[in-house]
Amino acid sequence: MKDSFGRNIDYLRISVTDRCNLRCVYCMPEEGVAPMSHCDILSYEEIMRLVGIAASRGIKHIRLTGGEPLVRRGIESLIADIKKTPGIETVSITTNGILIPEKFEMLKAAGLDAVNISLDTMDAERFVRITRREGFEKVIEAIKLCEASGIRTKVNCVAMRGVNDDEFVAIAELARDLSICVRFIEFMPVGKNDFEKCVPWQEIKETLEQSFGPMADDTSRHGNGPAVYFKPDGFKGSIGFISAMTCAFCETCNRVRLTAEGYLKLCLQYDKGVSLRDIMRAGATDEEIGLAFEAAVMEKPKQHIFNDYFGADDIEERPMNKIGG
Ligand code: SAM
Ligand code: SF4
Repeated sequence: MKDSFGRNIDYLRISVTDRCNLRCVYCMPEEGVAPMSHCDILSYEEIMRLVGIAASRGIKHIRLTGGEPLVRRGIESLIADIKKTPGIETVSITTNGILIPEKFEMLKAAGLDAVNISLDTMDAERFVRITRREGFEKVIEAIKLCEASGIRTKVNCVAMRGVNDDEFVAIAELARDLSICVRFIEFMPVGKNDFEKCVPWQEIKETLEQSFGPMADDTSRHGNGPAVYFKPDGFKGSIGFISAMTCAFCETCNRVRLTAEGYLKLCLQYDKGVSLRDIMRAGATDEEIGLAFEAAVMEKPKQHIFNDYFGADDIEERPMNKIGG
């Protein structure tokens, strides 16, 4: 499916829940989070109907996210069902990894293709300060399990000045010892003015090169995302950077997002989109929902402007756990 700027939209991120077993400081408040009511959230049947319609319109890759996707009961059967949908080539999840060890066999049997595991520190105590919960060892176990089983594995680290900027080398070393991509994500001040925490990706790269030497471009394909990759000498895996704040990767953006409430969101930064849930629950046919999907995609903004955040209208104010990252 092409948008009005000729970009091929073939990637749909679906948030399956706003709930989470962690409370990361950059994503959710510690307390007072009012969960969405169950009837507002798409049922698995509704998600499957929308996946089928999206696939018929050219979506090939699905990523499940949240909140924490693995806290939603029966997630493995949703993965298995999406995998069986004609036209869908890959199903992946973005997860904090805590529940991977206990659900690993079921996820593997469901046919999960790839996993992105979030980890912002190699220090168990700092992990508790960042996520406000225990679980560091489980996350490390999850990364090793996935890598060893051949599931394509990436680690996502949100780079934050004054929080984990002394640990970039230690986190990157995971990709020296394991066949995984470690990706540094520039902190995004979604919904609030918190710019000083952002560490530009070039600065992270320079820090890593002081330890690992010059990093050659890694042009092999590592999925469907906007990261750029490098391979330090002697590394089994790669290092990636996702630079929403300092680079406009929007020219090649191939994705749209479905929130847990069934709102089709066209760009991470903007609220622009359409409630496919409301259209579906009003009794629309598959054809009508498909047309609404296509019409919304034609409205996808040309680019985001995090660098001119307060110059833009129609800014997204929902926290990340409600958007899905
Ligand atoms: N719970 C899962 C997890 O943590 O991977 C999936 C949902 S989480 C919202 C998706 C991704 O968004 C994570 O990699 C997380 O680190 C990232 N994220 C959340 N808030 C962010 C922020 N303010 N800036 C940059 N990345 C953020
Ligand atoms: Fe939960 Fe993921 Fe947000 Fe952390 S980043 S609070 S794990 S949804």
